[in-house]
Amino acid sequence: MAKQYTIGELINLSAGYLQEKGCSSPRLDAELLLGHVLGLERLDLYLNFDKPLNADEVAAYRTLIGRRGQRIPVAYLTGQREFYSLPLQVSEGVLIPRPETEFVVDKVLELLEPGIPTEILELGTGSGAIALALACQDPGFRVTAVDVSPAALAVARANAERLEVQNQITFVESDLFQKISGTYKVICSNPPYIKKSELSALAPEVAAEPALALDGGVDGLDFYRRIFNQAASFLEQPGFVVLEIGWDQAGDVRRLGEEAGFTWLETVKDYGGHDRVVAFKWE
Ligand code: GLN
Repeated sequence: MAKQYTIGELINLSAGYLQEKGCSSPRLDAELLLGHVLGLERLDLYLNFDKPLNADEVAAYRTLIGRRGQRIPVAYLTGQREFYSLPLQVSEGVLIPRPETEFVVDKVLELLEPGIPTEILELGTGSGAIALALACQDPGFRVTAVDVSPAALAVARANAERLEVQNQITFVESDLFQKISGTYKVICSNPPYIKKSELSALAPEVAAEPALALDGGVDGLDFYRRIFNQAASFLEQPGFVVLEIGWDQAGDVRRLGEEAGFTWLETVKDYGGHDRVVAFKWE
C-alpha cells in the first residue's frame, strides 16, 4: 500500500522542495497551497497536522507544488489574493495586488470627506484592487476604473460583482485618459513604473505578471509624465492626485508633478520604510 502522508509531513516536504527552487517564503507557500487544495485556513492545517490525506488530495497538491517550483506566483495558483481585507480573484492577465498599494487607498481616504458623493478616477485598475477597496469603504464614492487591458477589466468587473459594489464603479477600456470625460475629485493610480532595462532582472514570479502592468519605459517614469500632462483637465478644484511609485522615484515624480503645476502634499513610506506613494493637490 502506498504511504499515506499527513498534512504535517506534506508541508515539511514541500517547503523543503520550494526552498531548493529558490522561493522566498517556502513554508508559507506550501501552507497556502495545501489550504487551497483542502479548503482549509492555515490555522486549520496546524490543528489537523497528523491527519492523513487521500490520494486525490496528494495528487492535486503535488501538481500545485510542482508549478510553484517553476516560480509561478501563489496567487495565480490559488486564483486569489487578499487586498485591504477583501478577497480578490486574480488571474495571469492582471498584476497581483501588493500590500504596499494599500497606502494609495489610505491616502485617498485621508484626503476625502466621508459620506458625501465623490467622483474618483483610477487609472490602470488591473484586478480592481484600489477601486474596490475605495468603493467598499464609502457608499458615497463613485469610481471610474480604467484599464487598457480587456482581460484585466473582466477580472475587475467580476470582483466588483462578487463584492457587490458594481453599482458604484464604472469600468472603462481606455489607455489612461483616452476615453475619459468629466471631472474627478481624485485621480489615483499604481501605474507601471519599472525601468525597461530592469524588467529582465525581475524575480521569476514578477516576470510571470503582465509586462503591460510593469513596464514604465526607459527611466520608469513614462506613465507619470503622461498622467501629469493631462490630469489637470480631469480634476475638480481643489482636486488631488495620488500615485504609487517605485522606491527610488519620489524625487523625480515630485518634480514632474510640480513642473506640471501641482502642489506636492506628501510622500508616504510603505511597511518596508520605502517611499511608496506621492500625493499632490490641484487648486
Ligand atoms: N510593485 C511592483 C514591483 O515592484 C511594480 C508594480 C508597478 O510597476 N506598478 O514588482
